[in-house]
Amino acid sequence: MKILFDKIGSNAKAFEYPKDGAILKGSLSKKSHHEIHLEADLSGTIELDCVRCGTSYLHRLDNHLDLILSDKVVETQESLDIIEFLDGVINIEDIVDSEINSIKSEYNYCTQCANSLDENFEVEF
Ligand SMILES: [Zn+2]
Repeated sequence: MKILFDKIGSNAKAFEYPKDGAILKGSLSKKSHHEIHLEADLSGTIELDCVRCGTSYLHRLDNHLDLILSDKVVETQESLDIIEFLDGVINIEDIVDSEINSIKSEYNYCTQCANSLDENFEVEF
């Protein structure tokens, strides 16, 4: 799903983008000449691999995204929540992909391993 930077005005424009089992729902609004504010919720489910036992399991998404999209190079690195779309085309799919990839790159444990980690944790005390 691609949205032209220039099509976004100061009135929030709602969007909804489903990808596999996940869905990103939110709005885009112009913040300044080169900045668009994206506020959205990522929900649905994705498949994750447990880092401990390797089992694939379903993870229910519940992530709030509050991002600034810019159509020019952002020089200040004050905020990491800025995404550049230098060609002036906002690619919602890229945003969903990067969000899901960052969840996948975390240490994810299936319920069973998470529970047994808790038990081990308790035993140590
Ligand atoms: Zn596991």
